[in-house]
Amino acid sequence: MSVPVLEAEELCAAYHQKPALTGINIAVYGGELAVLIGPNGSGKTTLLKTLGGLLPRSGGEIRLDGRNLHEYTRRERASRLAYLFQDAGTPWSFTVRECIAQGRFFRQGWFGGENAGDREAVEKAIEAAGLDGFQERPVNELSGGEYQRVLIARAVAQEASCLLLDEPAANLDLKYQYRIMELLKTLTREKGRAVLVSLHELGLARLYADTIIVLEGGRVAAQGKPEHILTGELLNRVFDLPESVSFKAFY
Ligand code: ADP
Repeated sequence: MSVPVLEAEELCAAYHQKPALTGINIAVYGGELAVLIGPNGSGKTTLLKTLGGLLPRSGGEIRLDGRNLHEYTRRERASRLAYLFQDAGTPWSFTVRECIAQGRFFRQGWFGGENAGDREAVEKAIEAAGLDGFQERPVNELSGGEYQRVLIARAVAQEASCLLLDEPAANLDLKYQYRIMELLKTLTREKGRAVLVSLHELGLARLYADTIIVLEGGRVAAQGKPEHILTGELLNRVFDLPESVSFKAFY
């Protein structure tokens, strides 16, 4: 079996000594789209941020391409790991193109400008995120969904081997929810990227996930192929649905 691109072993994290993640064991392989699901507060954002090195772990290990995450320099890490988080903040007044091109910064030296490869990566990401014609628009004048697509394009332009995306479909209308999921799927299939995304939309998870990881109370409640995970019994229990609602025949 090949080495996972991203792997967590007995990973734990805490806020002010209060555990938020406990004993997480997961692996995401190249060519695989893994989807994190779970109710609010189950630890999805914390897990993605800890895996991305943005939050400290309180125990366990994270390995990226078989090597401990904390052994990488920032630049080395950025060539392998791209992420999108919900709290990206209010955008500065960059143009769409400038914002997406920031995904290439770590590849350029202190004084290096864009080369042909950078320009091509940025152009491709713009097209893939449906942002043709938006290049010169200031990002602080975009709708929430348009800005979300800019952030996705920036992560894609980075050309990292692993992408971590926290609710990439949030704020997007139906067309772009599917378009972005298609884009992520293409990155796994054609470029061999490892992608881990959190989603609230179980319909998207069912359609696009190779693997689903279910979080509950900071632990992995289940993981496996969508047809094994998206059962009424598991979803009703984990999401604590009212009796009048049931996921009996979700898959
Ligand atoms: P999810 O993304 O699944 O909604 P989170 O990872 O945001 O879950 O939260 C997991 C747990 O950690 C929750 O109990 C939440 O209240 C807590 N938590 C999240 N962020 C913080 C924070 N900055 N400080 C303290 N507790 C936090």
